[in-house]
Amino acid sequence: MTVPHAPVPQVPDLADAPRPTRAFGVYIGRFEPPHQAHLLVMLEALRSVQTLIVVIGSARAARNTKNPFTAQERQDMIRAMLEEAGADIGSAETGRLRFVQVRDHLYDESRWLAEVRGGVQAHVGGSRDVALVGHIKDESSYYLRSFPDWEFLPTHVVSPLSATDVRRAYFAGRLGDVRGMVPPAVHIFLERFRQTPEYAELRADSEALSEARAAWEAAPQPPTFLSADALVSCAGHVLLVRRADRPGRGLLALPGDLLGPKETLLGCAARVVRQLTGLGTALDLSAALRAEATFDHPDRSQRGRVVSHAFHFVLDRETPPELAPGRGESGGGELGGGELGEARWLALSEVLAHPELLFEDHHEIIGRFLSGVTDQS
Ligand code: NAD
Repeated sequence: MTVPHAPVPQVPDLADAPRPTRAFGVYIGRFEPPHQAHLLVMLEALRSVQTLIVVIGSARAARNTKNPFTAQERQDMIRAMLEEAGADIGSAETGRLRFVQVRDHLYDESRWLAEVRGGVQAHVGGSRDVALVGHIKDESSYYLRSFPDWEFLPTHVVSPLSATDVRRAYFAGRLGDVRGMVPPAVHIFLERFRQTPEYAELRADSEALSEARAAWEAAPQPPTFLSADALVSCAGHVLLVRRADRPGRGLLALPGDLLGPKETLLGCAARVVRQLTGLGTALDLSAALRAEATFDHPDRSQRGRVVSHAFHFVLDRETPPELAPGRGESGGGELGGGELGEARWLALSEVLAHPELLFEDHHEIIGRFLSGVTDQS
């Protein structure tokens, strides 16, 4: 099926562009990938600001079908498409186009705001001549109201283009549609990326997600799933699994499962830990329980609306116990033991330093329970 989209607006002629009137403009986005409307907004902004600071959100996350490209890849695509369009942006270090890469903090909005401000501050120094560029397209643009000291410069670009449509066409292999939605420089990148194993993984994830969604199509309303996750820490290590399932096959994840029909949340988390460690009742999990919290950001999972209740267990030992998977109990939620993935102890400092290796919001969950150490990430 072809995604309908309006004719792409043309890149304006920059020859008689008015001189910039503001020192700095800030343009925040995910740019997954940058498309024609993003390009036009940036070209328009470069007419009214001396230096444009593009804040690339959702940085340092694992690739997934919603965020397929690294922040550096998106940065390179943006620079290439602006150069191709003839924008006078100068060099990366001293030119009119600067970048800030910011991670998401789904459960800590003030941290996200501080990181955006801190990144912008590094470029503007003490200047207060800062404007915020963008378009309030729907509720997801709420953050444009979160910087009241930066004057809002709404874009005049009117286009129904959306990166969601670009990604949908890209992962369905409809390259002709993609070509119509992105600048040539971005299309070249997308063509090259299509030859990589990463693309093959993401395309398979996309198919698996479509199949899973189709299975629920006849439901009277979109389902909400409840899962229990376990953060088990011991002697500077945490217990993680390498995912065996799509989406996110191969990523590191907290041990967890969908809640079984006859389980409590704590019972579900304990079952998964016992299955993975093979330590059975030798592991006194009730004595090890330190904290619990619910993780319910609506965008935390691409599998649908999945709310997780997570438990933090601390094993008071000098070294993490040896794992003997398969010796524990089985049964419970929808996932059988084999689908829980392969478990291993990993150094907490390594895990915290590599958010891009973790599935969904699991790095943030670990950070919530082990706060203080997460600031290294
Ligand atoms: P986006 O790439 O969809 O859009 C970027 C900008 O371009 C927006 O101003 C948008 O309105 C505009 N735009 C998009 N399509 C347009 C069109 N057709 N015509 C005109 N303008 C158009 O990015 P986004 O999702 O808005 O990016 C926000 C980023 O900030 C994300 O990475 C998000 O995760 C992050 N964020 C994080 C937190 C947090 O972690 N707490 C909070 C808020 C935002």
